[in-house]
This record gives sequence, C-alpha cells and structure tokens, in this order.
Amino acid sequence: MKAVVLLGPPGAGKGTVAEVLSEKGYRHVSTGDLLRAQIKEQTPLGLEAKALMEQGKFVPDNVVVGMIRDLISNTDGSANFLLDGFPRTLVQAQKLDELIASENGTIERVILLRCPDKVIVKRLSGRRSCPECGAVYHMLYNPPKNGEVCDNDATALIQRSDDKEETILNRLSVYAEQTAPLIGFYAEKGLVREVNADQSIADVRADVMEQLA
Ligand SMILES: [Zn+2]
Repeated sequence: MKAVVLLGPPGAGKGTVAEVLSEKGYRHVSTGDLLRAQIKEQTPLGLEAKALMEQGKFVPDNVVVGMIRDLISNTDGSANFLLDGFPRTLVQAQKLDELIASENGTIERVILLRCPDKVIVKRLSGRRSCPECGAVYHMLYNPPKNGEVCDNDATALIQRSDDKEETILNRLSVYAEQTAPLIGFYAEKGLVREVNADQSIADVRADVMEQLA
C-alpha cells in the first residue's frame, strides 16, 4: 500500500491534483466524503460523528482515524491512496504512520500546495450562487450574462457566507495554524514536495507530475 498526502488551503486547487493522481491509479480519499458515507450507512462511527456535528463540535481524532483504519484494512495491499483532508493534526499523522506500517505500506510523498492568501481570496470571494436553482457563477471566471442575476431564472445571486472575504481569511488562518506542525513532521522525513498553486491548471498539473516522478 502506498499513499500520497495532499496538503493545501481551501481554494488552492486540490481537485486538480486529485485528478492527476486518479489518472495514475490512486484512489482519492476525502475525509469529508468518508464521513458522509458513514453517516448515511449509520455505522457506529457515523452515528458518533453525526451526534457531535449536530452539537456543533469537531469530529475527534479517534473517529477520523477509525474511518481511515476501516478503509485501509478493507482494501487489498496493492492499493494506492491520495489522502485529502487527512491527517489534519499531529496525532492523526502519527496514527497514520502506525496504520501504514501495520500494512507494510509507505507514504511516498506529501504534496503541499502553496498559494498566496490574496489569490485565494480573489478566487473564492468571486463566487455567487443562485438561491433558486443552485447554479454557481464566478464574477471573474464564469460571470452571469446580466449583472448579478441567474442566467436560468433571473433570480438575484447571493454570496454564501463561506465565500465572504472575512470567512475566507479566517479559514486560511485556521489552515495555516493546523498545517504548520504537519509540514514540520513530514519535512523531517524528507517527504514534502511543494507545488506552486498560483499558476495555470496546466502548469499545476505538470508540476505535480514532476513531483511524483
Ligand atoms: Zn437560478
């Protein structure tokens, strides 16, 4: 079993990296998706996570680690994973090392997407959505035809609170705080490869390929 860990702030283009690795046969594992699947199937972990989230609490390390443990132990040894959103804390990173060692696997690389905060704010704060049909626009990259109304139904577009500058800056500072110790942990092992995310998608793809070679 081999794994690549993907670290990067929201809006840095993690989807592009996931696409490149999927083409290379890696299974994209997002902890958000795993969590939703466990909740839907009403597993013990899913029920525990759901109860915590309904109280507005974070899902603790042991629940997240439990999901990854289930996934790894239910997959045959030749599988390759791209881990997205995990590990998020040092405790999770240490547990991941144990899990991978118990399967005689390795962490091949940690891909770290770097992107200046102001670029992320520009990317994310331009998003507008239609409260009627759910269509998503971007005022710079995919603007609606007539001002700030939906092309489908002429409803006034809204900016979700997640896409407001203040919220974005707050998420970026939480990300930086959480990720710094992880970068240190993996840098000591010589695993970190930085990719500049402030360039075209084609260039990001090319850089990721180079870092995997
Ligand atoms: Zn609409």
